[in-house]
Amino acid sequence: MKFDHLPPADQILEMIGRIYRFGMTTTSGGNLSVLDDDGDIWITPAGVDKGTLRREDIVRVRADGRHEGLHKPSSEFPFHQAIYRARPDLRAVVHAHPPALVSFSIVRKVPNVDMLPGEREICGDVGIAPYALPGSAQLGANIAAVFAEGKRCVMLENHGIVVGGVSLADAYKAFETLEFCARMEIQAAGFGRPRSLTEAQQALAAASRRRAARASAAPRSDADRRARGARADVRFYPPLL
Ligand SMILES: [Zn+2]
Repeated sequence: MKFDHLPPADQILEMIGRIYRFGMTTTSGGNLSVLDDDGDIWITPAGVDKGTLRREDIVRVRADGRHEGLHKPSSEFPFHQAIYRARPDLRAVVHAHPPALVSFSIVRKVPNVDMLPGEREICGDVGIAPYALPGSAQLGANIAAVFAEGKRCVMLENHGIVVGGVSLADAYKAFETLEFCARMEIQAAGFGRPRSLTEAQQALAAASRRRAARASAAPRSDADRRARGARADVRFYPPLL
């Protein structure tokens, strides 16, 4: 089964597990949500250790505001809701406190997504939302205003990062890629001046990826299709050239 077809609670559990295990958020920090076809938002709970989350801990918030589950929804639920209202094309939101991106948020800079081929295509232009108290309606308004500009990766001043996607796998891919960019930039700046690819180099790489995508979309054998269909896997990274 495709990952995107798994129930929202299972998708959230898988992705918050990756984020926590990979040291990209703390026990109490970060929250993930998925908007389903009925307009309900599935979200990580408030006050539960991210390292011990179970399927039944995920909270469902109905479109009318009622919530179902063992816990209250994340205290950051208001900004998840504000993002979905500002961007009807988005169906999932990842928010976390990964160390490199939080470092950028503290100095109020945006990571460079032009240092390796493919990263700008995944992350797009990265925005930055002015600081507001976590959990406040003001923070939701600040974040939603940047999403409304068309951005899908938004740094939160002195806080962390929020990424939206057409699916949770899509949002996670951009989140992970942007944290990788931030780490590379910090490390590279320690012993030299990071250099960006030129527009021509980026265009060449994009053309190559389009050719590779067309080739991988070509008809396959029945056996190959069966093997692929049996795994709920997600391919997170485009091949680097
Ligand atoms: Zn946070």
